Amino acid sequence: MERLKLATVWLGGCSGCHMSLLDLDEWLLELATVADLVYSPISDVKIFPSDVDLALVEGAVANDEHLELAHTIRRQTKTVVALGDCAVTGNVTALRNPLGSVRDVLQEVYINHGSPRAVVPDTSGIVPVLLDRVLPLHAVVPVDIFLPGCPPSAARIKGLIETLLAGKVPTEPVRFG
Ligand code: SF4
Repeated sequence: MERLKLATVWLGGCSGCHMSLLDLDEWLLELATVADLVYSPISDVKIFPSDVDLALVEGAVANDEHLELAHTIRRQTKTVVALGDCAVTGNVTALRNPLGSVRDVLQEVYINHGSPRAVVPDTSGIVPVLLDRVLPLHAVVPVDIFLPGCPPSAARIKGLIETLLAGKVPTEPVRFG
């Protein structure tokens, strides 16, 4: 049997979904007998590889780097999973959306709730550029499987990976669990 090329991705999220994945403990050793982790914040690979079988994507799309990476993932991956509520709906990461544009958000955070002499820092060229709105993953690229939860439990993540390893890959977008 060919080994599964597995990627896990951390976009705009708190890493809680990855913590849930790590909660699989010794089952991860079992997974390592049939899968290679080809990209992940855990392995710190910098470039998203080609021909990935399965990408578990945590977090919403909040800045220009997320957006570019989301498109790269979609181009280079067979099955893309929106892992957790931030990827599925925007969730916590999207709480800034009702405040308005990026300019409004920075004004609110640094000026309205900052110290009297606070200014909005000039971060141009230093950090990724925020998108005007935080978006769920499916708003920017097609998603194959939605695994909601904040975070999804380790058992549900395991159930999804086992289902896919058994060759039960959905042909249409589907919510798992
Ligand atoms: Fe964190 Fe919940 Fe978002 Fe996962 S879904 S990244 S646990 S806030």
